[in-house]
Amino acid sequence: MKIVNVDSNIKPYRILLGNGIRYDISDYLQPQYSSILLISDTNVADLYADDIMQGLQGYDSVYLEVVHAGEQSKSVDIYYELLTKAIELGLDRHSLIIALGGGVIGDLAGFVAATYMRGIDYIQVPTTILAHDSSVGGKVAINHEQGKNLIGSFYPPSLVLFDTATLATLPTKEIRSGYAELIKEALIADEEWFEKLLSEPLARLNRDSLTEYLKKGIEIKARIIEKDEKELGIRKHLNLGHTLGHALETKLGYGVMTHGEAVAVGLLFAMHVSEAEFKINLPKEKLSRWLEENNYSFNLSIEMIDELIDLMKRDKKVIKQDIQMILLQNLGEPVIHSMDVTKMKDYLATFIAQ
Ligand code: NAD
Ligand code: MG
Repeated sequence: MKIVNVDSNIKPYRILLGNGIRYDISDYLQPQYSSILLISDTNVADLYADDIMQGLQGYDSVYLEVVHAGEQSKSVDIYYELLTKAIELGLDRHSLIIALGGGVIGDLAGFVAATYMRGIDYIQVPTTILAHDSSVGGKVAINHEQGKNLIGSFYPPSLVLFDTATLATLPTKEIRSGYAELIKEALIADEEWFEKLLSEPLARLNRDSLTEYLKKGIEIKARIIEKDEKELGIRKHLNLGHTLGHALETKLGYGVMTHGEAVAVGLLFAMHVSEAEFKINLPKEKLSRWLEENNYSFNLSIEMIDELIDLMKRDKKVIKQDIQMILLQNLGEPVIHSMDVTKMKDYLATFIAQ
């Protein structure tokens, strides 16, 4: 088993990664919980809820709530339903919530935990590669009709228990999605790591290497959060690739492109802009070839530019008309950069034309 400690200013916690550790969940729980509510989605519950429930047999009051798989469950309505359930089941301030699933469940169940009776303990049990990112860092949120993650909190889990064996059932497109965030972390951390991640095709990825990659990705994120938990400064570096990525996701509609696929295009764009702004060479071609070989989708055309720019302007990262974006001064050297809209448009045009 691998362990990463997060020295959070709000509340320190541990991330445990291991093959099959979901069965041993009770070994890692403090014994005093009055009741436990396991929250999962329709796909993940079918596969893994029983394993977790069995591990919790020593506890008297253990309940399971299952929501529909997909982003639409991060809604005010589902959030409210879960709170109602928690009240009906008699959860109190000594109860525990366990989030079993990908980023959607982690964000939703985490926000329920953050707000139920002013906050109760919760544990993240991530089951997607992407959730190595979402389960660490304490951001929990649901969506408002006007935008993603607009209702949320910084509320660290008590523990993250990442059973890498669950990744065996992950659909290929979800593997691609989460892996893009690992590549992002490598780009902001170091070149050697980036080379390593691209050294083999996704189809040949084995569990041991993946566990190592996840641990390293989590460590990169953890070290950043420790310095800037509330994203006032360097935590923004983790948004590399997300300026265009978010705009693309919104433009195409959620579900057409996975988050990570959109981020992958955003990473290439950030490299394109960085090369021009700082007159440097980055391994953009290498990344582009690898993404193509691994069947990432691109979905960009000249006709989309105006709308993408409008979406970028609406993003949280806009300060006075300039669009904030993370660039690389070099591999492993991210910086926050402000760019005016006309320049951004030109860069987008040359990027798409390539
Ligand atoms: P997800 O939770 O929707 O999972 C993707 C799909 O895979 C779902 O259909 C799910 O049912 C299925 N699935 C999950 N685990 C599985 C498994 N082991 N086997 C088979 N199927 C499985 O999506 P995601 O990509 O994990 O997370 C995306 C969400 O995370 C977004 O809502 C995003 O806003 C959020 N997020 C949050 C943070 C944060 O810091 N809080 C960071 C990044 C992303
Ligand atoms: Mg992301």
